[in-house]
Amino acid sequence: LRGGRAAREMPFGPDSLTRVIAVTSGKGGVGKSTVTANLAVALAQRGLSVGLVDADVHGFSIPGLLGLVGPDGLPPSPTRIDDLMLPPVAYDVKTISIGMFLRRSTDGPLGAVAWRGPMLHRTVQQFLTDVFFGDLDVLLLDMPPGTGDVAISVGQLLPHAEVLVVTTPQSAASDVAIRSALVARQTGQRVIGVVENMAAMTLPDGSTLDLFGAGGGAEVAERLSTPEEEVPLLASIPLSTALRADGDAGTPVVAASASDPAALAVTALAERI
Ligand code: ADP
Repeated sequence: LRGGRAAREMPFGPDSLTRVIAVTSGKGGVGKSTVTANLAVALAQRGLSVGLVDADVHGFSIPGLLGLVGPDGLPPSPTRIDDLMLPPVAYDVKTISIGMFLRRSTDGPLGAVAWRGPMLHRTVQQFLTDVFFGDLDVLLLDMPPGTGDVAISVGQLLPHAEVLVVTTPQSAASDVAIRSALVARQTGQRVIGVVENMAAMTLPDGSTLDLFGAGGGAEVAERLSTPEEEVPLLASIPLSTALRADGDAGTPVVAASASDPAALAVTALAERI
């Protein structure tokens, strides 16, 4: 990443033909990154040209989820051409993440990112302006959870972006999910729908296990709907061992276990947005 120079023009401004979709959640651990990575792959499987910006700078996980790990165990660095960067590609998704710029300190783990607002803003801005994605049909952004600096920066940089809210079926998660969507809406972004993740799974004996309760996604959708604009519940993705294991292995479930119920739900989501 470079600092100092005047910013290049934003290729994803209001005149661009690329749909920009920011995936947000009220809190961490609801599966936002897993859903975003799989949605990106499912959209690419539909034949769309897809980019993915890992804007969850402090908690980046997209390179691991897409198996973007080199022989040294690190995400590959983007190739530089002059002062543009070419994003690494996995499952036909062009991807950029801060993890691609961090290097292991001697034999320790990947460096942690402990940046404050202005640095975060510049990083997200550079991901959007200095990475050569080419012509994209869809650009997904994996947002950090909550309503922090990056959400506000993205709202300023991409006021025409659409927002997808990921939440769990637990009604206790609803308030924070709604708050994150309202911050995005305040910056002019349109909330296009809610994705409920970790919904009830069907067990081998045919019974269902709803570990996190039921109804949270529908509740968030209803409470975000206005008289002018209905916000639909676009998908309910069940708890899934395959989705979790494939995420850990860096082989997204929509590619590795396409008939799994969670994979089918994400594929259906990719058809609906
Ligand atoms: P977030 O981005 O919201 O912090 P992650 O995508 O990192 O959440 O997911 C948190 C954990 O939950 C990961 O270990 C992931 O594999 C797991 N997970 C996500 N969705 C599901 C699901 N539907 N079923 C089972 N495990 C899930």
